[in-house]
Amino acid sequence: MLSVDTIAAIATAPGRAGIGVIRLSGENLGDLATALCGRILAPRHATLSHFRDAHGELIDQGIALFFPAPASYTGEDVLELQGHGGDAVLRALLQRCLSLGARVAEPGEFTKRAYLNGKLDLAQAEAVADLIDAATEEAAKGAARSLSGEFSARVQELVRELINLRMLVEASLDFPEEDVDFLKAANAKGQLVEIEAKLNAVLLAAQQGSLLRAGLRVALVGRPNVGKSSLLNLLAGEDLAIVTPIPGTTRDPVRAPIQVDGVPLHIIDTAGLRNPTDAVELIGVERSWQAAQQANIVVHVCDASVGITEEDAAIAKRLPSGIQVLRVFNKADLLAAVATSQDNGAQLYMSAKTGAGLAQLKSRLLAMAGWRPGDESVIVARERHLQALHAARDHLVDARQRTAQLELFAEELRHAQQALSRISGEFTADELLGEIFSRFCIGK
Ligand code: GDP
Repeated sequence: MLSVDTIAAIATAPGRAGIGVIRLSGENLGDLATALCGRILAPRHATLSHFRDAHGELIDQGIALFFPAPASYTGEDVLELQGHGGDAVLRALLQRCLSLGARVAEPGEFTKRAYLNGKLDLAQAEAVADLIDAATEEAAKGAARSLSGEFSARVQELVRELINLRMLVEASLDFPEEDVDFLKAANAKGQLVEIEAKLNAVLLAAQQGSLLRAGLRVALVGRPNVGKSSLLNLLAGEDLAIVTPIPGTTRDPVRAPIQVDGVPLHIIDTAGLRNPTDAVELIGVERSWQAAQQANIVVHVCDASVGITEEDAAIAKRLPSGIQVLRVFNKADLLAAVATSQDNGAQLYMSAKTGAGLAQLKSRLLAMAGWRPGDESVIVARERHLQALHAARDHLVDARQRTAQLELFAEELRHAQQALSRISGEFTADELLGEIFSRFCIGK
């Protein structure tokens, strides 16, 4: 009898392809494999097989791979059937697996089982999805590093060192007469400072990785006709937004995904911010302000040939606080001498028409986002990981200020350790697991 818990899914993307893969995981898949392939499969051998339906009729022929538990992706018996990559044939083969007792897998269920069976920790399981979703080569490399366990290992090292320090402090609490000297002799403070430094390094690598994964939202705002759409097109390298000399042409924010240095930039061109003349334009202008609010960086585009107008100043005043703003003087080609010498941290001269200043714009945006090019230690991290690292760091900072009150010191260390353990999934609620795995693709 098959366990009710055998799962099956088409693991390859829908559509025509040379090969399509069906994957199964469960307990005691040997019998199912024999029924399906008409022979006993040797473990981990590519076996050319005829996949037949219940009446012995041929569905497809292909390669069957059988991985008995526990040496498999999920830690259970896993069977992979490589047939021809067509929707109809794969559906028929999946149907046959279901009739033999399997059920259709939920998104991410294979990886969830791998996690529950201790094959991966939670950060590695998330890296599987991030590797599949990676939009750039750099993001893929960072995800692969997390998948190989590099991120987890760095977090585990921090947890180990925190445990050592906690043991010292807890021992001092148990033997109060020796406390202060004991901690001094073991250089508890020095250990804490070292852990903090290591944590900061991991946090930096994770922040870089988070940029690679999620990208940077950049909103181009400014009054009509300053060249926002032209700038978007230049950035995107193709004609995405409508460029006209008539003010008010862009009514909806136009979005262009591009990548600079491997970092995905989501550039949003917004409707010219001016007092709207009709209801449609009004909506466009409202959306522009919303886009500006949701951006990581706002590029305030002005016209270099006219300088800052009253309208520009009014826009600058209304820009959301707490979001970094870069002022770009476009149309610098109309100036007698290009005023690049006036470029500084918060403003830049360029020309969307000639392309002058484009490279500076790109590198300025990345620098504002805190991107450090060529960093090989980048770890693709999620918001969840960043939050845990930030929480751990806050507790360590609090701990450092409480060395005189041993009990509070111990408590902060305990909280820091717990925050870090959330990354690997050691202290993770079931709802969070559901949330994480439901975003996977089926068959993974
Ligand atoms: P938007 O309304 O801010 O999106 O501005 P557009 O991109 O539609 O451009 C408005 C007008 O300015 C068009 O006629 C563009 O050709 C022109 N323009 C845009 N950028 C430049 C530039 O760098 N130099 C010059 N000389 N003209 C530009």
